[in-house]
Amino acid sequence: MTRMLSSLRYRFILALGVVLLLAVMALALIDKMLVVPALLAKEAEHANAELDHAQRAIDNELEHLSLLNRDWAYWDDSYAFLHGRDREAYRSANLADGLVFEEANLRMMAFLEPDGALYLGAGLTPEDGRYLTCRRLEAECRWMATTVLSIQRHIKAGFDETHPAWLIVDTEHLMVSLWPVLRSDASGPSAGWLAMVRVMDDEWIAHLRQSTGLDLALATIASLGPHRLGETLTRVNTHTLLATRHLEAAPEAFDLELRARLPRESFRASLDTFRFALYWTVGLLIVVIVVVLVLLECMILAPLRRLAAFNQRARQEDSHETPSALRSRGDEIGTLAREFQHLLDHQHRQTSSLVALTQHDPLTGLANRRLFNDHLTKVLDQAARTRSRVALIMVDIDHFKAYNDHYGHPAGDRCLVAIANCMRRQFNQPGQLVARTGGEEFMIILPGYTQDAGAHAAETLRRAVEALRLPHAGSPIAEVVTISLGVALYSPQAPRQADALIIAADVALYAAKQAGRNRSRVEHSGATF
Ligand code: GH3
Ligand code: MG
Ligand code: MG
Repeated sequence: MTRMLSSLRYRFILALGVVLLLAVMALALIDKMLVVPALLAKEAEHANAELDHAQRAIDNELEHLSLLNRDWAYWDDSYAFLHGRDREAYRSANLADGLVFEEANLRMMAFLEPDGALYLGAGLTPEDGRYLTCRRLEAECRWMATTVLSIQRHIKAGFDETHPAWLIVDTEHLMVSLWPVLRSDASGPSAGWLAMVRVMDDEWIAHLRQSTGLDLALATIASLGPHRLGETLTRVNTHTLLATRHLEAAPEAFDLELRARLPRESFRASLDTFRFALYWTVGLLIVVIVVVLVLLECMILAPLRRLAAFNQRARQEDSHETPSALRSRGDEIGTLAREFQHLLDHQHRQTSSLVALTQHDPLTGLANRRLFNDHLTKVLDQAARTRSRVALIMVDIDHFKAYNDHYGHPAGDRCLVAIANCMRRQFNQPGQLVARTGGEEFMIILPGYTQDAGAHAAETLRRAVEALRLPHAGSPIAEVVTISLGVALYSPQAPRQADALIIAADVALYAAKQAGRNRSRVEHSGATF
């Protein structure tokens, strides 16, 4: 898990994931804190405008009723009627049947004395729409009582010409208008009062709905007092908004509530549009993040991984060539790969020369004892596997101490180098190895050589050194530098360890020395020939 988190890829995914999360949270906050409240405020504003519209329609109705009432109240005939003149003529002309009421959509008309006492009430009964006229609020005219009482209360409170019409909450919702009865020229004194009452029944509401185009309703509610008049908005569901407004009505204990059910299409459409844009933004953000991750993966992470994998391989398999696709890149990763390649080459060169130093003799450049031992072990293992032979020749320069004594040490070194070169020239086949294993002692490994071939090679070498004709004034056996050689053989019939083979070669060499030097001897299965 920690390894996964420390990977650049997962850290980038994590970082970009956090960025995405923050962006989505910011957008959600903008939606919740700014957009939705702004849309709700706009919706509330619209709902109030619609309520204003509905209230204006009701006010217009009140005004129309009031104008009609005023026409009747400022009519000389009505004036005379209330004074008791031409009563029958007035009644038979205007109040004989309910035609006037039906035409003007009136529930009732009340003629009142100046003190408010009922002079005549006329109207259509709420139960069956029967037309009645009454002098008293009794028997069949009881239904007029509460309305007349409300009108009388209004008269008592003092008639306000600026508010000649008002609403009443009774068993039904009513609209009432009241005017003093005056002469046509509006001169007094007032003969009494004329009130007209219109019922705001289902039919009236349907008419109001039609004229306003709004889904309206009226309801009776307990009065909240004059200071609590106002609107409330209830969001019924995502489709409907219920906007209500208190309308002052008599009696005081009650009010009317105007209710408008408004569609929320505009709000929903605006919100849907914003959310649509929001979802697209989030989608686009995700696409951008995915593209960034893919680019990151292709341009940086994958090449880096290849470089790291190569690095690992280079360590395990001794590989020295960074992938050329990486080295040929012109970007920072290309520079990194090239620098890495330089570093690798440099390290390889240094390692190679260090290895060469540890495996070779600095004077002659031949293999040293260490490389000789390794090579001999390898060759003998292989010979044991393949059941083949190996010849080992041990070489020693004759009377070399005397050479040094006579010509000096530097000349001795030059002599060593000359003999080494001679041996190198002769034994240069793959698998063959010439090593300087002591001061003036050498060993030659010859894989695949039989006893005869080994003996022959030793003799050839001896002659070749002699043929160099390096003067050796201190030698008691020759005028030139000579060598003695001992040959030992490894064969499938007499397999043996490296040490045993070296000892055998040494024994053969000793035999050659004993026999007078400048000669070779072969040792085989413990016998020297
Ligand atoms: P033999 O015929 O019995 O081999 O006699 P030898 O004198 O060759 O043998 P010995 O072991 O007595 O002497 C070996 C000499 O080789 C001694 C030493 O001075 C010389 N020698 C060893 N290493 C070097 C070297 O690196 N350079 C030089 N110039 N001489 C060396
Ligand atoms: Mg020696
Ligand atoms: Mg010697």
